Amino acid sequence: MSRYGQSLTDAGTPEPVCYANVIIDISHEKVDRPFQYRIPDALLGKIEVGMCVEVPFGKGNTERSGYVMELTNKPEYAPDKIKEVLRISSRGVLVQSNQIRLAAWIRRQYGSTMITALKTVLPVRQKVKSATKRRIVPAVFGEEAQACMEELKRKHQNARLRLLERVCREGEISYECATKTLSVAPSVIRTLEQKGVVKVLSEDVYRSPVGTFGKAHRISLSREQQYIAREILAEYRDGKPGTYLIHGITGSGKTEVYMELIAGMTALGRQAIMLIPEIALTYQTVSRFTARFGERVSVLHSRLSAGERYDQCLRAAKGEIDVMIGPRSALFTPFDRLGLILIDEEHENSYKSESMPKYHARETAQELASYYGASVVLGSATPSLEAYYASEQGIIRRFELTRRLTGGALPQVYVEDLRKELRSGNRSVFSRRLQSLLRQRLSDQEQSILFLNRRGYAGFVSCRSCGHVMKCPHCDVSLSEHGGGRLICHYCGYEQPAVKQCPKCGSPYIMGFRAGTQQIEEMLHRFLPQARVLRMDADTTRKKGSLEEILKAFAEGEADILVGTQMIVKGHDFPNVTLVGILAADLSLYAGDYRAGERTFQLLTQAAGRAGRGSRPGEVVIQTYQPQHHSIVYASRQDYPGFYEKEMAYRALMGYPPAGHMLAVLVLSYEEERGRQLAGYLAQEGIRQAGKMGCVQIIGPSPASIARIGDQYRMVFYAKSGQGKALIRLRDRLEAVWEVCRSRTETVQFDFDPMNSY
Ligand code: ADP
Ligand code: ZN
Ligand code: ZN
Repeated sequence: MSRYGQSLTDAGTPEPVCYANVIIDISHEKVDRPFQYRIPDALLGKIEVGMCVEVPFGKGNTERSGYVMELTNKPEYAPDKIKEVLRISSRGVLVQSNQIRLAAWIRRQYGSTMITALKTVLPVRQKVKSATKRRIVPAVFGEEAQACMEELKRKHQNARLRLLERVCREGEISYECATKTLSVAPSVIRTLEQKGVVKVLSEDVYRSPVGTFGKAHRISLSREQQYIAREILAEYRDGKPGTYLIHGITGSGKTEVYMELIAGMTALGRQAIMLIPEIALTYQTVSRFTARFGERVSVLHSRLSAGERYDQCLRAAKGEIDVMIGPRSALFTPFDRLGLILIDEEHENSYKSESMPKYHARETAQELASYYGASVVLGSATPSLEAYYASEQGIIRRFELTRRLTGGALPQVYVEDLRKELRSGNRSVFSRRLQSLLRQRLSDQEQSILFLNRRGYAGFVSCRSCGHVMKCPHCDVSLSEHGGGRLICHYCGYEQPAVKQCPKCGSPYIMGFRAGTQQIEEMLHRFLPQARVLRMDADTTRKKGSLEEILKAFAEGEADILVGTQMIVKGHDFPNVTLVGILAADLSLYAGDYRAGERTFQLLTQAAGRAGRGSRPGEVVIQTYQPQHHSIVYASRQDYPGFYEKEMAYRALMGYPPAGHMLAVLVLSYEEERGRQLAGYLAQEGIRQAGKMGCVQIIGPSPASIARIGDQYRMVFYAKSGQGKALIRLRDRLEAVWEVCRSRTETVQFDFDPMNSY
């Protein structure tokens, strides 16, 4: 066991101790170990594990802060040579011992320095001065609010009406907006507040990111739902917490089960963390929870200010919250009575961190839960192969929810072969079936969604004469054509004007091939001029709040057709959508990594799930050049077990996760040749170790599929093994080798069971 791990068994022992082992706040492998300090008499008994302290460090005794990992009576070397702790730091939240333990596990499992791992589990360290803003929120809802507005209208109390209308529409407005934009006098606001129509929140109360709460409509759970909730809670009460998978199509009532579980846990005095993919963190989702659990719910996500996040962590640490909702990082909410971690849409890529340490929330949740004796519940309509495999192996218990509870039937799915369309003379991006269905929807005043798994105007630009592809000079990725013909790099933002001639052969036939969302929008305008079209992709949603605006406009029927990238297929509920068109299902099949088939199946199934969520049945058109591919065949039948069987056979044949394990070693360098040499050297060492271990295979090294980002060159090699532990040993060995020859120009990153290819 690592020294970080060992320290925990000692943590909190009551004997008087006089030494503190401290992790210094420097992200550098050379100091990635605890340093020992003496606790001066004045601080004896005052320092605890997890505290932030100031210490003298290095030859010059520079003042540094660090975290106390362990308290001990054993000096590690001559006591008179041990420096003293200067003082307890004034900043920062106290780190809980479970968080230190988790950081140690993350460090060990995924590889990073201890301080980086610690910073990962500490969501906010610094207290941020609270803003002095005041906000106005409604205190009446629904019919009551309507009645209030009618009355104000009758009495011609226009300022009051103006304020109430705006507050109800937006959910909250700033005090300044009321007094300046709406010219409502403070006395009027006060009157409305006294009448209990609005509330003015000032910042001496906690900044609450969840706003106000509607009333919960209590639903009585189906027998299937009750069974799941009852079983999971009973096992927990019996002291047998576990990990569970709830496999259920969208709309089968998983969220209701989550809420029932949370209610059961809070009744036992336990707290819950509910992870959802950031993109699904909409007002809709959060308000369902707040309607049921009121102010004991909070959210943590990247759009909150540092101050708001700090407040939520503090409230959690004080036990003022029972439920924290948020993306991956909400896992590190400092609860001390944790009973349950829920991971909705557990197959989502966003549960894997893209920066070091590259941890996966599903595995990390299971580790964390084990410290608390908590249960973990995974939910998905299209489970990750990992989760489903574990359930097939009997490692986790699986429940199925098979029916849609809103009465909506599964949609009718058509697979359209684009090769046949071309042969029959249809050169449009819309197959004949999709065209006729779109027309029909328009005349029936129902909505449609068109989904393209690609952003930008026309994908890459290439020469039809010599095949030359326009690429970014810095990043070695193909440039995308945008409005007006400008060419843009989606990694570094490099931009150049349109090209009229091929720079290689001079041919004038250089143009974009594949349509992007913007081009689809234009083609729709030509094909159905009367249709109102909204577009949602990375370009139209860059501005804060614009994503919500587009979704809201579409939900309110302000457009007939929504065109978008994968961000439209997740978690949104549009009851009037009865047609979903997937324009080129193949785009995600050629991503060049072993998960491409799984990702395609998930995307198609979820996109199909968008159709017919209301009372009318839905139709789905999947357009493809590969109608026989198993991802497409089983997605069109909404047959997960069928897909799983085929896909798992492929993984097992190739030794890919979850049939085996994989470690990606990424070498980043500002000097191409040095990067190549280092990658080669580490891969050689890998091969030597693999020879000794006998159960590891090394693939590569080679330039990464994106060989350069910014001015950094990227080399990658992979190690595969049936045994995860062997790969962790291999990583330790490579880390040690790298430690000896390290330099400033290179970085080495490790990624265990990577979600994407490099
Ligand atoms: P999921 O999370 O699986 O997509 P939800 O829990 O969001 O499913 O449920 C989908 C819809 O069905 C929601 O509108 C929800 O209110 C409704 N619903 C869920 N459970 C029931 C039930 N037992 N009876 C009636 N309606 C239900
Ligand atoms: Zn050319
Ligand atoms: Zn670039």
